[in-house]
Amino acid sequence: MRLPRASLFLLLAAAGPLAPAHAADELTPLIDGVAPAVIADRRYLHQHPELSNREFATAKYLAGKLRALKLEVQTGVAHTGVVAVLRGGRPGPVIALRADMDALPVTEEVDVPFRSTVRGNYDGREVGVMHACGHDGHMAILLGVAAVLAAKREELPGTVKFIFQPAEESAPLGEEGGAQLMVKEGVLARDPKPEAIFGLHLFSQYEVGTVGYRAGGVMASADDLRIVVKGRQTHGAAPWQGIDPIVVASQIVLGLQTIPSRQMDVTRAPTIVTIGKIEGGVRDNIIPDQVQMKGTLRALDEDMRRQLHERVTRTAQDIAQASGASAEVHISERHAYPVTVNDAQLTQKMLPTLCRAFGERLFEARPMLGAEDFSFFAREIPGLFLFVGVRPKGADPDSVGANHSPRFSMDEAALQTGVEALTRLSWDYLHGR
Ligand SMILES: [Zn+2]
Ligand SMILES: [Zn+2]
Repeated sequence: MRLPRASLFLLLAAAGPLAPAHAADELTPLIDGVAPAVIADRRYLHQHPELSNREFATAKYLAGKLRALKLEVQTGVAHTGVVAVLRGGRPGPVIALRADMDALPVTEEVDVPFRSTVRGNYDGREVGVMHACGHDGHMAILLGVAAVLAAKREELPGTVKFIFQPAEESAPLGEEGGAQLMVKEGVLARDPKPEAIFGLHLFSQYEVGTVGYRAGGVMASADDLRIVVKGRQTHGAAPWQGIDPIVVASQIVLGLQTIPSRQMDVTRAPTIVTIGKIEGGVRDNIIPDQVQMKGTLRALDEDMRRQLHERVTRTAQDIAQASGASAEVHISERHAYPVTVNDAQLTQKMLPTLCRAFGERLFEARPMLGAEDFSFFAREIPGLFLFVGVRPKGADPDSVGANHSPRFSMDEAALQTGVEALTRLSWDYLHGR
């Protein structure tokens, strides 16, 4: 559900004046106090990145920090995940906070003293390894939140479960991992059982200090697509003697593009069909037997996601059939990430907290068609996932290194914004505000 403009303003009004942001309170000195440690943690983690499902040293580092805060720490969850529980001194609800742990097969080009020179193995190839998606920041933020809330343990009315999740960028081929495996292993079902979950992502496209929220579908579902078009081989000068799968594949590529524009309700939410790879044939004058195409499907609504799958399958098969060819359509062989949905009621409930904390720095974000496996948690219990800007003030959005780029970097002031967001959401939720 998208909050209508009017209700947003009512909520803002109820939350008090837009600016200045949160008046200093008992949490402020604690949030300020952890800032140097959060930056130090982020730099350490940045310099020691590990690929998905291989976050061994990362897990050890996190577990050590969490044990030092006297939290109950469990390691080896969903391979390398770390789950830590902070029980407050007063009774109250249980909530979960999540940070992801993995880095990417990217060779860092950012010139900082804590730059990564780590090499790793990805899909059988030697690669550079870099925290190019800001997960180093997510972990450092969550350690900071744990430190602040642990310092207020006696007064805390409830329990916080800190979930450090491996393999957000997807597990290596043939392995399980990520949020899906954590859910399967009972992270949300086991005591203490959280009733809501919060998370955030640092993003290069938003300016440092800003926080984006959105009710409803906030990040897309992602399903991989593989289509095998089978024709019949023939000489390039005698196409009528065979069935040309290259021409059929071309028709399918174009036919698929008419699904989002002509068949899906564009007033409801956008959908995307992308073909990113086409393979077929070996030489100019031989029409091959078959063509294989790979792509990705995105949607912001689970019902539209199902429709998209049906229509893609039907379109590919029927176009192939029209030429006497056939098309095998395989969807979600490797990735099937659900839509990340921010629970409408939870979003509405927590909006005053965000307004008080960030004032004019809070904005209603547009949805992103990237995917997030936070969706697996938010599908089990109400979730709220925020965007936190890392782009330096005044920097041109087109010139900064985007997430996943070898030039991705952050204005580290964003880390404190992240600590503030998750701390205040937790504090207010547990206090029933
Ligand atoms: Zn990423
Ligand atoms: Zn990410």
